[in-house]
Amino acid sequence: MKIKKPRILTGDTPSGRLHLGHYVGTLENRVKLQSQYDTFILLANVHAYANDYTKIDQINDNVYQVYLDNLAVGIDPNISTIYLESGIPETLELYSYFLTMVTHTRAVRNPSVKDEIKYKKFDPSMGFICYPILQAADILGFNASLVPVGEDQLPVIEQTREIARDFNKVFADTFVIPKAMVGRVPRLIGTDGQNKMSKSGHNAILLSDDEVTLKQKINSCYTDPSRIHATDPGHVDGNPIFEYHYAFNPDKAEVDDLAKRYKQGQVGDREVKDKLFIALNNFLTPIRDKRKYYEQRPKLAKEILVESTKKARKVVTKTLKIVRQKMAINKLI
Ligand code: ATP
Ligand code: MG
Repeated sequence: MKIKKPRILTGDTPSGRLHLGHYVGTLENRVKLQSQYDTFILLANVHAYANDYTKIDQINDNVYQVYLDNLAVGIDPNISTIYLESGIPETLELYSYFLTMVTHTRAVRNPSVKDEIKYKKFDPSMGFICYPILQAADILGFNASLVPVGEDQLPVIEQTREIARDFNKVFADTFVIPKAMVGRVPRLIGTDGQNKMSKSGHNAILLSDDEVTLKQKINSCYTDPSRIHATDPGHVDGNPIFEYHYAFNPDKAEVDDLAKRYKQGQVGDREVKDKLFIALNNFLTPIRDKRKYYEQRPKLAKEILVESTKKARKVVTKTLKIVRQKMAINKLI
């Protein structure tokens, strides 16, 4: 299969609005690379059903919010194609063929799936257990060569690579073997100091949070539990307020000075949090403004989504034609 410009396929499950972790884990790379790569961004609503298929209204609202979040950080719809997963039924056909290629043992062994089940504390649907296989169909349907993701997704991309290799072995070279690209902060910690910042974890600072919400979240953010008084020496590693300073405060000298004084017990949480608020608020202001631009133009936003989904579907339809031929799926009709 010949491709002119290398392709990127990446995206988000609409299980909530996007947060700072998405920014450093994947959004930043999407924006940076969108002019170099033919970029496709997936609003993964079918994946969201695998979390809870009863939450239809919530999923649809989240699809729209995640769409706006992507535009707000600088995804340019004139360059990148941002589309709705369910608008490409061919992806689901490809998924059903891939399901036959992955053993049950391999599916339940996926570390991303195992971690998420533990973290989300739920009895997973089959759709959830098999979500990496659907993701393989999302990616391989475009023959994408690069997938910008956070570190938690590496085992999922590994499974995509395996499926592509297995398919190529049996049916001759069909799929490009994609590579994962992890962002500058592979796994941003949550405001609760636990695990990663996550949409479903109630431990996220959202890209769309207003100033008041941002202030509240920073004020109630977990810091160093072993530090009772401002004069106690504190820990900066694994401390969310410092991890966020390192990731988002452009004034490196200020961050170094705060970290030095924190370790020596010469600065209180108050000052560190107030300075973090200023840095994060400056970072979020242009993102909020761009979001507002599209929020105020819902007709334009919808038109872009409809057209982009049609464009994306054409690409996957071509892949499916080749896959069906190779698998001799419709030989008798
Ligand atoms: P959920 O809790 O529903 O799984 P999520 O917050 O993990 O939601 P996803 O839609 O699963 O978000 O992830 C979208 C992309 O963002 C993936 O590439 C994922 O690796 C990346 N990502 C999510 N959270 C973080 C984080 N805290 N740090 C770095 N990257 C992240
Ligand atoms: Mg996730």
